[in-house]
Amino acid sequence: MTNPFLTPSALPYRLPPFAEIREEHYVPAFERGMAEHLAEVDAIASDPAPATFANTVEALERAGETLQRVSIVFFNQAGSDTTPGIQEIQKEITPKLAAHGDSIHLNAALYARLKAVRTDVPEEQWLLQRYLTDFVRAGAELDEGQQARLRAINEELSGLATSFQQNLLADTNERAVAVDDASALDGLSADEIAGLRETAAQRGLDGKYLITLVLPTGQPVLSSLTDRSLRERVHRASTGRGAANAGLITRIARLRRERANLLGYRNHAEFVLADQTAGTTGAVTEMLDKLVTPAVANARREQEALEEQAGFPIEAWDWAFYAEKVRQARYDIDSAAMRPYFELNRVLVDGVFHAAHRLYGLSFTERPDLIGYHPDVRVWEVANEDGSPLGLFLGDFHARASKRGGAWMNSLVHQSGLTGHRPVVVNNLNIVKGEPTLMTFDEVNTMFHEFGHALHGLFSDVRFPRFSGTSVPRDFVEYPSQVNEMWATHPEILANYARHHETGEPMPGELVDRMLEAQKFNQGFATVEYLAATLLDWAWHTDYEGGDAETFEVAALRGAGLDLPAVPPRYRSTYFAHIWASGYAAGYYSYIWSEVLDADTVDWFTENGGLTRENGDVFRSRLLSKGGSADPMEAFRAFRGRDPRIEPLLERRGLL
Ligand SMILES: [Zn+2]
Repeated sequence: MTNPFLTPSALPYRLPPFAEIREEHYVPAFERGMAEHLAEVDAIASDPAPATFANTVEALERAGETLQRVSIVFFNQAGSDTTPGIQEIQKEITPKLAAHGDSIHLNAALYARLKAVRTDVPEEQWLLQRYLTDFVRAGAELDEGQQARLRAINEELSGLATSFQQNLLADTNERAVAVDDASALDGLSADEIAGLRETAAQRGLDGKYLITLVLPTGQPVLSSLTDRSLRERVHRASTGRGAANAGLITRIARLRRERANLLGYRNHAEFVLADQTAGTTGAVTEMLDKLVTPAVANARREQEALEEQAGFPIEAWDWAFYAEKVRQARYDIDSAAMRPYFELNRVLVDGVFHAAHRLYGLSFTERPDLIGYHPDVRVWEVANEDGSPLGLFLGDFHARASKRGGAWMNSLVHQSGLTGHRPVVVNNLNIVKGEPTLMTFDEVNTMFHEFGHALHGLFSDVRFPRFSGTSVPRDFVEYPSQVNEMWATHPEILANYARHHETGEPMPGELVDRMLEAQKFNQGFATVEYLAATLLDWAWHTDYEGGDAETFEVAALRGAGLDLPAVPPRYRSTYFAHIWASGYAAGYYSYIWSEVLDADTVDWFTENGGLTRENGDVFRSRLLSKGGSADPMEAFRAFRGRDPRIEPLLERRGLL
């Protein structure tokens, strides 16, 4: 049996040969990949020649190819299309990968060689510095006893993260709300009801209707279901998710604190922030403090308006419903009536791709001959204005039971001048498939957002793989993606994609105006639910020392002044996958931190004539192409000509 991971892909752009990959290929490829990588690292560490940039840093950049090939494909599948077999392998392999990483970072001979390397080339100095920082943060300066404890902590943490993710997926599927009678679904459209019936049938519940759960607390159906008791059922199903994770997360939080202490930090947040653009926990706290009071005041004002509309004090499961009513009354906007203007393929091609064409001159050619990892995955070849090839873009837009919740971008092949690889990236969304698939405006916005990450990967023009594309600090990575959201509401882009899926009629101009106006409504809610999740993440990684998860969560929200019963956090602790299983621990603040840069950049585009090729080229060359190869804030300053200002963000969110 030949294992497709053991040789470079022969497909265009080194697209992984998904059609040949079987589950039984993973474990042998991981084992072989780790062994090869260790042998390469040992050869570098024991090289008798004096340490140079080429024989040490560059050699490390080239090492571990097989391991990288299998890891990328495996973790992509574990997130997008998992199976019981994949879950088993994940449980087995993640602790081994953690141990593998430690055995490299804690290799004393290798670390000594890195410290001996000298170079005058700025990009090489930046990379060398990056390596030294990585090694120190992984424990290279600790004594042997401390290193042994660190290895044990990392191994346990990797297993806990996998368990968290698997429990959450199982519980999210389990807690989908089954409805016996269509009459309880009043408020939903006939298409939506048919979709719920179809979903139920797919999961063996013929004749019933199944409301599946999306990752955040707020469930889309809550804005339209008129049956209040069903709304409450759906809301409770959502907020009760992940009960099996309560014990896991307290363990994770304690281990993270212990690891931070070993490395000389008071807590995990301090450890994380030392390597972010924000720099210190104080800088983050200072910013959050500015936002909480005005955001809560806004949410309370909104709640009054909703209660006036409802005629009674509202609960969390009423908010979206009455917000929709107020929106309809104030702006004469019916969210459901807008969906026919947001057909998925049109939004993608005439919206997302069109904006990238106008700004950057990109063209997209669908390649049905190239196979993704699931029948739903579509592949496009992306080319520059002069026709030169740029990379591949894969789109995996639909929800399924085997996919984790949320939306994200993955890099399947990292661009690098050193390896000669061009980028291959994938966007994952969770849009319920329809005939045709009609989206909410939030989903449209998410599609533009994720494509902003995709552009960051596709435009990468760096020499070293370590710096490729989105390899930037966590609190910077959401910046390019949020900037790309601005094109979703740009008049020329919107007019191009928002057309009725049956008639082809453009969305009427006055409806567009009202929709844009209505976007400003409910910002208090959106900001508070986000801040509540952020402060929860923050509390877990600064204050937590022990005790049960529920009690800690309640106290943390109260302490932050964010315990509004009608505005629950965007994620409660037990299903907050970002911070327990996705690398956003003490990093959920990143979205609003990046949004400062985003709002300031939107102003830059506006000041400079908006949607033009010139503006696109400036943003691409000074920012998107840089990846992690330069100091991110210096790249921002080079682009903007000054430090970022917070005022555009405050204005946008109604917080001035
Ligand atoms: Zn993002």
